[in-house]
Amino acid sequence: MSKLSPLNEDIENLHLRIKELENREEELLKVLRIHEALHLGILNALPINIFLEDREGRTIFANDTTCDMNGKSLEELIGKTVFDFFPKKIAENQRAMDLEVWKQRNLITKEVKVNFSGEEKHMLTGKTIIHLKESNNDYMLGFGLDITDRIIAERLIKHMAYHDTLTDLPNRRFVETFLADYTKHNNINKQNMLGIVLLDLDRFKVINDSLGHHAGDMLLQAVSNRLINSVGEKEITARIGGDEFIILIPNMQHRDEAMYVCEKIMRSMEDDFEIYGQKLNVTTSIGISLYPKHGNDLNTLVKGADLAMYQSKDKGRNCYTLFSSTMRDCAIERMDKEILLRQALETNEFVLFYQPKIEIATNKIYGMEALIRWRNDDQIISPDSFIPLAEETGLIITIGEWVLRQACTDCKSWHDQGLSHLSVSVNISPQQFKRQNIEELVSSILQETGLPPSALELELTEGIIMQDPGNASFIISNLKALGIKISIDDFGTGFSSLGYLKQFPIDILKIDKSFVTNLEWDETNASISTAVISLAHSLKLEVVAEGIENEEQLTFFRNHGCDFGQGYLISKPVEMDMVMNLIKEKYIKVN
Ligand code: C2E
Ligand code: CA
Ligand code: CA
Repeated sequence: MSKLSPLNEDIENLHLRIKELENREEELLKVLRIHEALHLGILNALPINIFLEDREGRTIFANDTTCDMNGKSLEELIGKTVFDFFPKKIAENQRAMDLEVWKQRNLITKEVKVNFSGEEKHMLTGKTIIHLKESNNDYMLGFGLDITDRIIAERLIKHMAYHDTLTDLPNRRFVETFLADYTKHNNINKQNMLGIVLLDLDRFKVINDSLGHHAGDMLLQAVSNRLINSVGEKEITARIGGDEFIILIPNMQHRDEAMYVCEKIMRSMEDDFEIYGQKLNVTTSIGISLYPKHGNDLNTLVKGADLAMYQSKDKGRNCYTLFSSTMRDCAIERMDKEILLRQALETNEFVLFYQPKIEIATNKIYGMEALIRWRNDDQIISPDSFIPLAEETGLIITIGEWVLRQACTDCKSWHDQGLSHLSVSVNISPQQFKRQNIEELVSSILQETGLPPSALELELTEGIIMQDPGNASFIISNLKALGIKISIDDFGTGFSSLGYLKQFPIDILKIDKSFVTNLEWDETNASISTAVISLAHSLKLEVVAEGIENEEQLTFFRNHGCDFGQGYLISKPVEMDMVMNLIKEKYIKVN
């Protein structure tokens, strides 16, 4: 065996070394490939657009997300510039921005709106320049994160904060912001006013209470649609709460523009609304205030419009009124009066007077009508000057309850003094009838005072019934079931017909005193009174003539078979301690 020469041995070793190096290189390449795949995998797995461009703007790398979003393959993107994909103008813009990045060389981010194959996306984009030592070259690295969901959510939250959820109309906050902007950015002069039209639906509460909240909501939605359709493009319709809407009229040249908008709104409400198959006629009362004439902030302007709106309601609803500064003075006066009224309740300044009612055929007093008075510093204030305010403020609920309890207590004391044939009648106001659980109240007061139900009569007006006939009929039936009597006060002054009233379980009609006045020589009044008596009798109702002031009138009613009479001729309303005397004396005097 020949031994290898040292040279051969070296060659052999060299081969071995080469082999070893080759293996090592392969391993290194393998590791490199793994690294590359890993990096690429990471880049492609990220839900972020990542791309690399050279100095000329040519794409040299784009990850999968970029390819997907652009609807292009990597091969289609490589080597291309924005000029290959976008219209010239957009591409030029884009390139100019990129050159700025090249100039600044640090990260520039911005939020942009991009249209990817017809789909609008919001992207957070960033671009910067990186330097690769290995190639001794600079590249522009770009990324883009799709933030469309976040933007939509932000928009939704903002929309919700500034819009009403039921009608999707702008809300109070929107109006506030709008006004703040308007006052800041508009050079306001007389030719550039902002009109604030405030409206609410007349008797919305009745609808809501009787048909339910769902029906109420549907009505509000329907109303908001009509409002949007009736006002012009420049006006803004907002809902600021409950059944209150505001229409803002920017850049008004003349206040007549606001009147014109009101006319359109009122016209839009003329057709009935149909909710759950029920036809509803809805009217609105409107108040207008003007910026800057009537105030600089929303609160003042809305308060002004509110006062004007209340004036519209006083005028009989379904109309509009422009604010004037005298309204503010009236409101202050009214507020003072309201405070006094509340105090009067607390310090027992209310008293009941009683006016007798006689049976005309026998001249016998059979009952007393309780009429409230306010004794304020030795001055007796008549109900006409405080009941309307008590109605408006809701104080009538407490006052009415006091009247009912006092009248029943007083009548019970007459019974206890041997006059058990006497009845007492109590006037019930619309608010009381609507808001209070009147059946429960009457029943508990009767129990509390021990007055027999047959000795109590409630006087309701036609208005109470006509506001919501269905509900009224239900309540009246419940009251009747307690055993009390129901009369219709001021009959003939409301809208109802006798035929209509036939459907209600009532007992008595009171001919309004306006038909009794001058009846001796006023033929129309005489014939109205006669007609009411005979129609009432044909419906088996009893009739009271109120406001009888002279013998001729009493004779007239006696001759026409009217059942009962009341008026100054018989007696003016008197205080409680006079009632017993009156009963003794009057019985004799009238005879
Ligand atoms: P009303 O219920 O129609 O009461 C009759 C009114 O006519 C009373 O006025 C009475 O004093 C007056 N009167 C009676 N006889 C004659 C007459 O011969 N000639 C004239 N010119 N007037 C006569 P009063 O007491 O000032 O009450 C006014 C209105 O205030 C009442 O009209 C009633 O609607 C309301 N009212 C009175 N008391 C109450 C109450 O306790 N609750 C409620 N809700 N309303 C009340
Ligand atoms: Ca009355
Ligand atoms: Ca009356």
